[in-house]
Amino acid sequence: MPATPAWPPASLPRLFVETDLAEGLTLTLDGTAANYLANVLRLGPGAQAKLFDDRTGEWLAEIVEAGRKRVTLSVAAKLGERETVPDLWLLFAPLKRGRIDWLVEKATELGVDRLVPVITERTVVDRLNLERLRAHAIEAAEQCERTALPALMPPRKLREILKDWPADRALYFADEGGGTPLSAAATPGPAAILIGPEGGFTDPERAAIRALPQARAVGLGPRILRAETAALAAIALWMGAAGDHGLPPRRTACKD
Ligand code: SAM
Repeated sequence: MPATPAWPPASLPRLFVETDLAEGLTLTLDGTAANYLANVLRLGPGAQAKLFDDRTGEWLAEIVEAGRKRVTLSVAAKLGERETVPDLWLLFAPLKRGRIDWLVEKATELGVDRLVPVITERTVVDRLNLERLRAHAIEAAEQCERTALPALMPPRKLREILKDWPADRALYFADEGGGTPLSAAATPGPAAILIGPEGGFTDPERAAIRALPQARAVGLGPRILRAETAALAAIALWMGAAGDHGLPPRRTACKD
């Protein structure tokens, strides 16, 4: 018996939209979204796309009009609710452009709920383009089929963050000086991973972090990892031990 193809086809384009979606809504996209649908994919009236808005969930929409700069779609049906990702924050010292873009993209794919740039004494980057980072998070969410975007917070100084740290949130402090292997230390529940800058944490910073009752110093093996590698490794280890990496892929497989 041939498998019935999954509906809607997994190959439909997926786009994040700022508009609150609802059945029967007509919306017009412009800019990169319109260019992608009309000029890159060369889609016209009748073609379908999946839309999500980070609030109501994911929807199936049909193109009703497609011009070079604007595409109008009609929302046909709801495909699913907005997901709940594990309550994991990533605190990271801003990195140079390129590396930080890559870090935001990968952290989004791996399911992080919140991204918090942390200014430490050895942070080399002093200005952050949050708009550009948000665009990378959106693109990653469109590709990996997230229906919830990670929250991207404005940068904060490490000492301020430690001062009002949430009492119920574990802080896995990736210490290149060594700590418990993260896979052994990770437990479910509100959590955060803290990764230092290229130059590492200063000793006073290390002491201040370790003084926090919720802090758990964790090691990521014997090698000194680049900050973005350490972040990726730590997220994957936590997600595997305490997050949702045990769940099957969201995409409905072909039904037999
Ligand atoms: N300048 C530091 C040194 O040479 O010791 C290296 C800092 S490393 C490039 C950037 C951050 O990645 C560190 O602050 C730490 O948070 C994390 N990291 C790198 N390797 C690690 C490891 N083996 N275990 C735990 N954390 C690590």
